Amino acid sequence: MTSTLREPVTLQGRIRTELQKLHDAHLHISPRVLEAPQRARTRILGRDVVNLASNNYLGFADHPFLKERAAQYLQRWGAGAGAVRTIAGTLQIHEDFETQLAAFKHTGSALVLQSGFTTNQGVLGTLLQEGDLVVSDELNHASIIDGLRLAKATKKVYRHKDLTDLRRVLDENPTDGLIMVVTDGVFSMDGDIAPLADIVALAREYGAVTYVDDAHGSGVLGEQGRGTVHHFGLQDAPDVLQIGTLSKAWGVVGGYAAGPADLRDLLINRARPFLFSTGHPPAVVGALSAAIDLVQQEGGFMERLWDNTRFFKAELHRLGFDTFGSETPITPVIFGEAETAFEASRRLLERGVFAVGLGFPTVPKGLARIRNIVTAEHTQDDLERALNAYEAVGREMGVIGG
Ligand code: PMP
Repeated sequence: MTSTLREPVTLQGRIRTELQKLHDAHLHISPRVLEAPQRARTRILGRDVVNLASNNYLGFADHPFLKERAAQYLQRWGAGAGAVRTIAGTLQIHEDFETQLAAFKHTGSALVLQSGFTTNQGVLGTLLQEGDLVVSDELNHASIIDGLRLAKATKKVYRHKDLTDLRRVLDENPTDGLIMVVTDGVFSMDGDIAPLADIVALAREYGAVTYVDDAHGSGVLGEQGRGTVHHFGLQDAPDVLQIGTLSKAWGVVGGYAAGPADLRDLLINRARPFLFSTGHPPAVVGALSAAIDLVQQEGGFMERLWDNTRFFKAELHRLGFDTFGSETPITPVIFGEAETAFEASRRLLERGVFAVGLGFPTVPKGLARIRNIVTAEHTQDDLERALNAYEAVGREMGVIGG
């Protein structure tokens, strides 16, 4: 029986109220439309722009080598995977790519899931049980936070990269269950690197395993882009588990988990995003297998990425900008208040530079910023054009002197 006393909440009403809340809190986002491929130079609002907004670290998103293999796989293997891999059967190319990825990562096994986001959900949800303890860096990515919501373990947070605080949390929460320390390899907002060797050493004192989300370290750190775990020489550590994304440096889409030989088998059987969602289409698998081949066959991508990063950062510092201690191609420029960062982003776009402003709650209050991502594909001319725009906007807005 329906009540006639209250106005029902309508679909339109709910949508309108929620949108209004976002507008009122200045949190409403409308993505920019790119009128050309995702490259170091692209087009927005009919204008040629230098692109500092993507995670396309190696410039693979529109790379001919990836596109050619994607086209071959599309022709040979079709447009879709058919269904969930455990139901419809898994294509040979899915299996081959996972073997290739495990070899590249030097791990006993690897499994590919739909995205980095779902990988965190699947892996954390699978491994953590009641009675376990999971301790997570306060600046870990949203997908870790959501993944931990699915886990039944006791969840604690430690202060960003603070090993004293991590030790305190481990001391205060003893358990006979599995203990897991979770950290991003490279932090997505500040571009700093987790002190992984120290974290792993501390975790070991407590018999804990270390879980690294290497979304921003893959393709960026370690030999040929093998990631943060390799950067610290921990690739053979049996108590370190890596997950990562195939959507940033590797240019396409997907997530992976890489770890001990049996990890893959367990995740195939337990990870819910794997069990209940369809596998990648062949074109995606083709492009990804080409990406891993390319970085091994043709050197120079990481060198260009890091040369560009060093140059861009040094020039920003020379101009008087604060890049907040970033150690990687993620280069924040601090503007303070959110409105200032958003205004600077608008002015940069008018000057032909696409770089996104980020404010609270994505970053702490008072530390609103523009997050720039340098890539291997940027030319010296691109970076100089961006720096000229930064100098002009910084002076106009009184963020730098002169
Ligand atoms: N982890 C981190 C640290 C990330 O930055 C991201 C991407 N924003 C993800 C996971 C999710 O990856 P994907 O985009 O492949 O879902």
